Amino acid sequence: MSDTKDNLDIATQLVHTGERSDPPTGQPTSTPIYASSTYTYESMDLVDKVFGGEIAGYVYSRYGNPTVTALETAIRTIESGATACAYASGMAALHAALIACELSSGASVLASQDLYGATTNLLQTIFGSFGIKTIMVDFANLEEVRSKAREIKPRVLIAETISNPLLKVCDIDACTEIAREVGARLIIDNTFASPYLCQPLKHGADFVVHSATKFLSGHADAMGGIAVSRDAADSMALIGVMKLVGGVLSPWEAHEILRGVKTLAVRMDRHCENARALAERLSNHSRIGRVYYPGLAPADRQEVANRILRECHLGALVSIELKENSQEAAFGFMDALKLCVRSTSLGDVFTGVLHPATSSHRDLSPARRRQMGITDGLVRISVGIENIRDIIADIEQALGA
Ligand code: PLP
Repeated sequence: MSDTKDNLDIATQLVHTGERSDPPTGQPTSTPIYASSTYTYESMDLVDKVFGGEIAGYVYSRYGNPTVTALETAIRTIESGATACAYASGMAALHAALIACELSSGASVLASQDLYGATTNLLQTIFGSFGIKTIMVDFANLEEVRSKAREIKPRVLIAETISNPLLKVCDIDACTEIAREVGARLIIDNTFASPYLCQPLKHGADFVVHSATKFLSGHADAMGGIAVSRDAADSMALIGVMKLVGGVLSPWEAHEILRGVKTLAVRMDRHCENARALAERLSNHSRIGRVYYPGLAPADRQEVANRILRECHLGALVSIELKENSQEAAFGFMDALKLCVRSTSLGDVFTGVLHPATSSHRDLSPARRRQMGITDGLVRISVGIENIRDIIADIEQALGA
């Protein structure tokens, strides 16, 4: 409506003036935040054609939003997928990918025992309540994965590219082969690696999922998730969950994440370089019993890491187990940090530390945690992009404190 309609009452003008004007001359160089939940057209005929799919267009932001589409296009392209669909969180994206695998009552899921705790909970509680059974195995033990897959004929195999917090790199090539043999779909949560370090669809996975809250956004100021399918045949399922379950990404968050994506490569180069230097430095520290880092893993695990991840990029995480392997010692170390942030997430520009036993793996019994190797003295470090000298100095002073 034109601003010149001054015969209208002020109450009407307040609602309409300035809105729905022509697009600006000159294309914005950065995708704007399309903060509009609805879209209008010149005629009802056009609305009908857009609704009917005859003409591409937006009708309602739960069905699609231009800012969100820009992010989806970027991630679909980087991950070499057929369709990318963004959601309000990483958990919503995982839920969508699992639904897209057409899980129904009586079906089973073969899952990595090292999955993020909430993913395990999602499988066991929400999917479990629909009669879907989840069996957990150690995906670092391929023989166990293969024999369990042959035995239970799962509908889905699901694992993370780099596991949390012990940082085992998944042999996605081998998992693809096992999934194909038993007719299962393979979902890879690529959050810890980011698409810069690994593109699971190229290794044969059917779906790749990200918590965009982590490395993709990278600044601890946005929450989102994205699921990408390798095959176009899976597109409608991912889109269907977006439209019907409705856990859609807001354009504001999409904008923040899209901004983060632009610097992913430079951030990851620095994150990975810093993580390598920190892992090497701490590997002989007198107060540390063990350092978990893919570059310090046994030779066969290193071969997998080098094959699956980008050359010389073994991830941005390092986990340390204190020699005094107790919660008290871990908390003492973490409380003594002055620069590194006690943070409940990962993948941010700053170095963040987390105590898995009381956070990500809190819901597991102590016995189960011990069995998985997650001890009370274990601390996970998400290495930031600060100057490595300052990171090391802070961690060493806290270890000495
Ligand atoms: N996947 C992994 C590996 C995670 O670490 C997390 C969260 O920490 C999620 C998924 C869930 O992501 P979000 O918190 O964005 O829902």
